[in-house]
Amino acid sequence: MRIEFDRDTCIGMFQCVAEWDGFERDEDAGKAVLVDGEETAEDLFVREVPEDAELDAKFAARTCPVDAITLYDDDGEQLIP
Ligand code: SF4
Repeated sequence: MRIEFDRDTCIGMFQCVAEWDGFERDEDAGKAVLVDGEETAEDLFVREVPEDAELDAKFAARTCPVDAITLYDDDGEQLIP
């Protein structure tokens, strides 16, 4: 599973941080940080989600109020949102 984080869209309410430790707080910027995320475009971060973290990553994506987090399965199909 692959996760994509649109940091530009993020409004920093940090619900995702409570769901998965793959997200951390950047209090100064008022944005979440995708830990080990690779910036593939401006403010767009991507990484693989380990199998044992998939459930938490799904909760993080579902809880985001502005859909800044997108999940894809291994075939590239969008799962959430
Ligand atoms: S839940 Fe969404 S808006 Fe809130 S910090 Fe996480 S990515 Fe940003």
